[in-house]
Amino acid sequence: MKKFVYNFKEGNKDMRSLLGGKGANLAEMSTLGINVPSGFTITTESCNDYYDNNMRIKPEIIKQINEQLEQLEKTMGKKLGSLENPLLVSVRSGAVFSMPGMMDTILNLGLNDETTIVLAKKNNDYKFAYDSYRRFIQMFADVVMGVEKYKFEAVLTKVREKNGYAEDKDMSADDLFKVAEEFKKIYKKEVGAEFPTNVKEQLMLAVEAVFKSWNNNRAKVYRRLNGISDKLGTAVNVQAMVFGNMGDNCGTGVCFSRNPATGENKLFGEYLINAQGEDVVAGIRTPKPVAVLEEEYPKLYKELVNITKVLEKHYKDMQDIEFTIENEKLYILQTRNGKRTAKAAVEIAVSLVQQGLITKEEALLRVNSDDINQLLHPTFEESALKDAVILTQGLAASPGAATGHIYFTAEEAVEASIERKVILVREETSPEDIEGMVSSQAIITSRGGMTSHAAVVARGMGKCCVCGAQNMIIDYENKKVKIGEVTLQEGDILSVDGSSGKVYQGDVKKSDSSFSESFRKIIEWADETRELKVFANADNERDAKAAFNFGAEGIGLCRTEHMFFEEDRISLVRKMILSASESERKVYLDRLQPIQSEDFYKIFKEAEGKSVNIRLLDPPLHEFLPHEEKTIEIIAKELDVTVSQLENKIKSIAEFNPMMGHRGCRLGVTYPEIYLMQAKAITQAAIRARKDGVEVNVEIMIPLVGIEKELSYLREKIEALIEKDIQNYKEVFNYKIGTMIEIPRACLIADKIAEYAEFFSFGTNDLTQMTFGYSRDDAEKFIDIYKKKKILENDPFIHLDENGVLELMKLAVNKAKKAKPNIKLGICGEHGGDEKSIALVSKIGIDYVSCSPYRVLIAKLAAAKAAIENRK
Ligand code: ADP
Ligand code: MG
Ligand code: MG
Repeated sequence: MKKFVYNFKEGNKDMRSLLGGKGANLAEMSTLGINVPSGFTITTESCNDYYDNNMRIKPEIIKQINEQLEQLEKTMGKKLGSLENPLLVSVRSGAVFSMPGMMDTILNLGLNDETTIVLAKKNNDYKFAYDSYRRFIQMFADVVMGVEKYKFEAVLTKVREKNGYAEDKDMSADDLFKVAEEFKKIYKKEVGAEFPTNVKEQLMLAVEAVFKSWNNNRAKVYRRLNGISDKLGTAVNVQAMVFGNMGDNCGTGVCFSRNPATGENKLFGEYLINAQGEDVVAGIRTPKPVAVLEEEYPKLYKELVNITKVLEKHYKDMQDIEFTIENEKLYILQTRNGKRTAKAAVEIAVSLVQQGLITKEEALLRVNSDDINQLLHPTFEESALKDAVILTQGLAASPGAATGHIYFTAEEAVEASIERKVILVREETSPEDIEGMVSSQAIITSRGGMTSHAAVVARGMGKCCVCGAQNMIIDYENKKVKIGEVTLQEGDILSVDGSSGKVYQGDVKKSDSSFSESFRKIIEWADETRELKVFANADNERDAKAAFNFGAEGIGLCRTEHMFFEEDRISLVRKMILSASESERKVYLDRLQPIQSEDFYKIFKEAEGKSVNIRLLDPPLHEFLPHEEKTIEIIAKELDVTVSQLENKIKSIAEFNPMMGHRGCRLGVTYPEIYLMQAKAITQAAIRARKDGVEVNVEIMIPLVGIEKELSYLREKIEALIEKDIQNYKEVFNYKIGTMIEIPRACLIADKIAEYAEFFSFGTNDLTQMTFGYSRDDAEKFIDIYKKKKILENDPFIHLDENGVLELMKLAVNKAKKAKPNIKLGICGEHGGDEKSIALVSKIGIDYVSCSPYRVLIAKLAAAKAAIENRK
């Protein structure tokens, strides 16, 4: 018979897929000798079996549950439903991947009118017993029957207000008895049946509810957002209850073995005295920081620190731990690898290496390349902060700096985010708000602590978040918020600092971020590990400076046309294009040449001998032409032609499909003088730099080659010009001539093209465009629909297409290497800075990737991770 139910003593942490993350870790901790209440896990296979069986739990599974329940009763010396010593259990979902807040837990199962009285008498504590009972009724009604929570909350609020209690825990036994009675009435009204008194029935309904919750909307949204398969199913954990709500020497809490926002190696978390379960994360009461526990119960605090250290060592990672204190005895109810900010991920990874717990390679694999983008995020400028008006300070829940227009509901935030940057302002958030959070720059809540839903989810998203900003009163109805003395309307602007918890009025100036010592270490290890070189795309001196600051090893793409657009040049460029004859064109080209030369010279100086790849003019000419009447008039005057003559000329240059038109080397072939001017500018710059003692390694890249003769024709002319100048000026410099591979045909005849090229740079943007036949500028209109209909898994302009484009590249690489073994190969374009694409191209034998300066570090880390994976 297949085993569907496992005792905690029978499992271990490697059985995640069967026991779920929570169950596997409860089992692992039980075996480690950590104080975990006994229990058992119903497997994920049982959940799948339930769905395969028309949503029925089959008898064999029920039998195994009952067997394990009997064993649990023996261990505990209590019995479910017993009128002498009733056992209470929790029923907890646990999927393979942790899904915070997505699945619901039921506590105190086994209570009914009779067992509650027994429990009260046994503990001589009616308050505790009825507190447990009313919680159970509410949770059961909510999770199993779908009765909305607020219907019950309203009763609690009424009792609190009537008696002037600050919190639920101030209620008397009598209050709670009445609350429980009231809850049962609500249950009956909403469900249309009495609250079930049969405890076995309670248990089976709860188990089934967990199975069902696998397919509730919140869980589905979370899985979709995180790319988790719908097929995995959830396990169910049934566990003996321990009680944090038995009085003031009891409590419940959540902690991290290290600070999940900063990575600091210090116990971090919060707890509530005399509380149960989710009270801490629900944001109803604001919990105390765990540091206070050190003062209140130093022994327990020490014990907790020790356990977290043991778990951290055992799991070799920072742990997120849930605990309960019952009569000053500590129980651990959950552990898992903790979610953290990018900053903390880096700090913790480096620290674990230094402690000898993990290797450098493991550390690199633990830092998400895209996450480090967060570390490059701006912070508010010190000087601007001095004058900024602080409206409130809450908890610094997730770092970052953001400014935006405030909205009070997720739907409105989503809608407004199409037009403007928004900030979601709420009392607290719940899983229903996820899409609103995704669309916002930052989230502010007035209630809840560091482990509230808003905080946990925002950290996971790398989104700036401030929680528990208590002097903020939101008026949802009138779309207003009162923060201290200031009242703001929907749409007003706030600036949020997730690193300090402060919220400022208006737009506060931001500045670039800086890197920590640990961050530098990670990059240093990445540099030691990776095999791909990382270059940057830089069109001017400023970009080049940034690129080399970030540690780029060369410039992989300098687009010369960007230089043409600058103020002082565009009119010369236009006149050059509109010239009536070659000789007239040459006049303007001669004037452009020293300007370009100056630009190149500056870049060579920044590069200090690192290779610089300069692409000759690429876009169709009419991109440079004027469209406004006024400009056309001015240029006509300067060219000494009439406006209509000029307009006709402009019309004659326009193309139906410029992307596939007269551009790239096609222009070079038609107007060789343009490319020769650029070659001359490069040569002059190189010679000048050499005279200054600067090393020069320049690559001249001819774009859009699809026929080898295009390249051989242009190459011959350019080479002749350079050689002549080298002789004339008696100054040598290193140069290569090569091409961009961006047309499918070029891949197919790469061997022939390689004969005339010392390097290839794959222009993956255009190559993707032409391989798919999708226009880069229009594709977003249907790619989204393709993704939704699962026709495309990814946008091929973001993540390189493995089956098509990469195959073409592979073919080209192999052909090129056969023809010219030492040919230099790389890629430029968006994909050069994308982790997934880097992993793919790392396998086809190219030498480097080139990306935007701000993605150089991401690319370095991604390249290191690719190298580690490839070696495995
Ligand atoms: P989630 O996956 O949403 O965190 P859990 O199953 O971990 O849900 O349950 C939430 C909380 O309920 C736990 O953190 C713990 O405080 C409480 N809890 C669960 N089981 C028990 C138990 N057997 N005894 C006491 N408290 C429990
Ligand atoms: Mg929960
Ligand atoms: Mg939990």
